[in-house]
Amino acid sequence: MENYDVIVIGAGAAGMMCAIEAGRRGRSVLVIDHAKAPGEKIRISGGGRCNFTNTRTEPKNFLSANPKFAISALRRYRPTDFIALVDRHHIAWHEKTLGQLFCDDSARQIVAMLLEEMEAVGAQLRLETSVTAIDRTPEGFRLIAGGRTVTCTSLVLASGGKSIPKMGATGFAYEVAAKYGVPVVETRPALVPLTFDVSLLERLRTLAGVAVDARVSSGKTRFEEAMLFTHRGVSGPAILQISSYWREGGEIEIDMAPGTDVFELLREARRTSGKQAVATVLSRILPKSLANHIAVTGGAVGNIADANDALLRRLAGSVSAWRVKPVGSEGYRTAEVTLGGVDTDALDSRTMAVKAVPGLYFIGEAVDVTGWLGGYNFQWAWASGWCCGQAV
Ligand code: FAD
Repeated sequence: MENYDVIVIGAGAAGMMCAIEAGRRGRSVLVIDHAKAPGEKIRISGGGRCNFTNTRTEPKNFLSANPKFAISALRRYRPTDFIALVDRHHIAWHEKTLGQLFCDDSARQIVAMLLEEMEAVGAQLRLETSVTAIDRTPEGFRLIAGGRTVTCTSLVLASGGKSIPKMGATGFAYEVAAKYGVPVVETRPALVPLTFDVSLLERLRTLAGVAVDARVSSGKTRFEEAMLFTHRGVSGPAILQISSYWREGGEIEIDMAPGTDVFELLREARRTSGKQAVATVLSRILPKSLANHIAVTGGAVGNIADANDALLRRLAGSVSAWRVKPVGSEGYRTAEVTLGGVDTDALDSRTMAVKAVPGLYFIGEAVDVTGWLGGYNFQWAWASGWCCGQAV
């Protein structure tokens, strides 16, 4: 039988950070993962360049049943702390937009950095290992992992959420939570493309692949970023962001020319360029195929000189206030994250410990804290992992 101070289940962003910090404090640490390689989501993140943090991280960038829960961890481990770690490893990075930091070269550098740090503090990593049993003992926990019995004083669940099951995502953390009576806030796919019904898709068929800068709203929440028409509905950063707030049965409103008074633009064009086709005028502010689609479906096929105010107003509405009801999302198959998770009311916000079960911890995406798109989810993984690593 092998004994460790700390066993971490999940060699992802949060688990590796926790292992590094626990190891630095002199704890013996074993990290177990059923995948072939550690940090697979880090490797594919940010289009292979890993958007590893966001310099503008604030509690308001996170969703949770208890929005205050994340504040403590986010204050204790900040984007600047992770940047300092990245700099120590001479990994070149750049800000892409809106505080989002990416590696210049490859996300693999972040995985290599974490593995190097783990090795430096003596944390062990066991891959392709499944945990088939967990039991409490007077000293902590006993696990059967890869057929071997291992024990620990502190057990950390860092096995992530349900997104991208193809990459090994499981609901394991929620199962362990249920086993120990820890409540779980209902989970759902988030940062995920939204889908339309077949008849709408048929009407939008020619637009698949068209991208536009848009302001997308659901209720009072709005995001202004790029949006993309797909063969199934809509995607792109603005849609992924709003997907975390949208609920089945609800509408989203899309402004495809934010900051432009489209009615005024059309009226002005009627005055000065009456011989232009409506689609041509709309293509000043929209991609050509989208401009064409809006003009044709709006019944504006002639010159703009022939369009009355009512028609121009309708067209302006189609551009600036397109209200559409998605039928669903692409689901966990393509969702970047899982909304919901282990109920934060059951956890200590400073340490991530389960208040009612001494020695048990949940960190990272498994917890009911979900960031916006833009490096916030990794910052939560680093921060919650770091805090837990100080406590185990
Ligand atoms: P994970 O990184 O998911 O790690 C969990 C680990 O646990 C995995 O290694 C898994 O194999 C292991 N595991 C699962 N179940 C078991 C089990 N039963 N037994 C043993 N091991 C198990 N966020 C950003 O901030 N910036 C980005 O650029 C970004 N890009 C993304 C791109 C994609 C395509 C996806 C899917 C996500 C992206 N995210 C991004 C989100 C980010 O990857 C996650 O929020 C983050 O990885 C969560 O870290 P974690 O350590 O909690 O979980």
